[in-house]
Amino acid sequence: MTGKTHVGIGVMSAVILSQYIPMDLTVSALSVSALAALLPDVDHPKSIINKYILPFKSKGAKVTFYFMLGIFVIAVNSFYFSYSHLNALGVFFIFIGASNHRNGTTHSLTGFLCFLFTIGYIMVKIRCGNLIVPFSIGYLSHLSADMFTSKGIPLFYPFSKKKFKMPITFTVGSFWGKMIESIITAGGLIYLTYKLPIIMMKMR
Ligand SMILES: [Zn+2]
Repeated sequence: MTGKTHVGIGVMSAVILSQYIPMDLTVSALSVSALAALLPDVDHPKSIINKYILPFKSKGAKVTFYFMLGIFVIAVNSFYFSYSHLNALGVFFIFIGASNHRNGTTHSLTGFLCFLFTIGYIMVKIRCGNLIVPFSIGYLSHLSADMFTSKGIPLFYPFSKKKFKMPITFTVGSFWGKMIESIITAGGLIYLTYKLPIIMMKMR
């Protein structure tokens, strides 16, 4: 699925769920949901996030870059600052470096929990704990959406390699796949426009 579709689904899920769960619909909350909806595909060197960060589009470059970044953050922090949440940020980057597109670590519940703990810890430390729910919604919306693709996702990796998918799936990149993604993106935009007055009223 394209990054655009994932962002659309992530934001839409946050808007819909905010009506049922206690969650503030702020610009930052929606942005966090959008970014979290892109995060699972960070394991792919050609994904939308890496396209803007990585100097090389290869797997080796991706692993090296995130590992070095993680170690750099932890090293600088231990020398100069000693903030526990900066260590969490370093661990977060190392997680990304270690994630492998083949086995799909980031597309499992284990991957979700690893990111949730590191990012959640940072959010609490910088007094943005209210963003944990939008983060979870965005991330889980990605996993749910990928379950509608023919490849499925290894939900319980590393405990089981079994790929889980919905009874009805579509192939990413196929005619129908592209059609469905366009319909979701367009539908999301229409829904958001329709909900805009309510969102604006709730936003601070
Ligand atoms: Zn994905």
